[in-house]
Amino acid sequence: MTSPKSGTRAKAAKAPAKVSAEAPARTPGAAKVGKPAKSAKVAASRRATEPAKAPRTVKAPKSVKVPEGESHLALVRRARRINRELAEVYPYAHPELDFRNPFELLVATVLSAQTTDLRVNQTTPALFAAYPTPEDMAAAVPEEMEELIRPTGFFRAKTKSLLGLSAALRDDFGGEVPDRLEDLVKLPGVGRKTANVVLGNAYGVPGITVDTHFGRLVRRWKWTDEEDPVKVEAVVADIFPKSEWTMLSHRVIFHGRRICHSRKPACGACPIAPLCPSYGEGETDPEKARKLLKYEMGGRPGQRLSPPPDFPGKPAPALGAA
Ligand code: SF4
Repeated sequence: MTSPKSGTRAKAAKAPAKVSAEAPARTPGAAKVGKPAKSAKVAASRRATEPAKAPRTVKAPKSVKVPEGESHLALVRRARRINRELAEVYPYAHPELDFRNPFELLVATVLSAQTTDLRVNQTTPALFAAYPTPEDMAAAVPEEMEELIRPTGFFRAKTKSLLGLSAALRDDFGGEVPDRLEDLVKLPGVGRKTANVVLGNAYGVPGITVDTHFGRLVRRWKWTDEEDPVKVEAVVADIFPKSEWTMLSHRVIFHGRRICHSRKPACGACPIAPLCPSYGEGETDPEKARKLLKYEMGGRPGQRLSPPPDFPGKPAPALGAA
């Protein structure tokens, strides 16, 4: 999953943190945490009837700096507050690859390298129609598979990986996707990130997905300075309980795709600005920042052609659709 959304209906679904445009500037450690969400039923009902909205407006701190001498305990508290805030903003956070079983998720995740989840989701329906099982895929004619996955880029290398991992699943795992990290990473083209995506979302085994968004955001938040994804994963694993790992990953990636973009983070429209030492790295004017928000914000379609029922935005269009 290379990249993903705005707290859009953050406020609509429930009242997120008690931060408003009128609130006084706060230091990171002083940010309030949102009140508990209302019942899922009520929230779902609202999501179905209310239009997408921008996240609440925040009065960003005037001089939020890297907390000097922040203790590990203070960092853990601030990081967990950010996670709670993100849970308020993105209660519908989810994996943004379409899949119906572990095999499809594994294949889609391999295909997502160097492209968007949207492009993968637009490509996989034809791929899985042609090769629904590892046995079918392992027996594919390479040139035919290359044509099917060409829209995802690097299609020759990805075809090689998919043929290799399908053969390995067929020959070594009885045609099933293993549910252990040590087995998954032995498959061709499968690294820790892909393995954690499969474990967390197909098997319910907690996993931290350190993709480009996750790494960028945790460094902006000064949870770590590490660039190596494996080291980032270890640092974050030490901050959060296992039970949070999978959803934390989705929330952070959602935030990176919708608000805290790589080149132009929308700081002036960011609901966690009071907790962020990097506030000001992007646009701080609230109006200009709101225009930078992406995806379900303003009715934009999401990445999935088949999103979860509670997704407040529109499904993504099929390949070639207007
Ligand atoms: S958008 Fe700005 S304030 Fe929000 S998390 Fe990113 S850098 Fe921090």
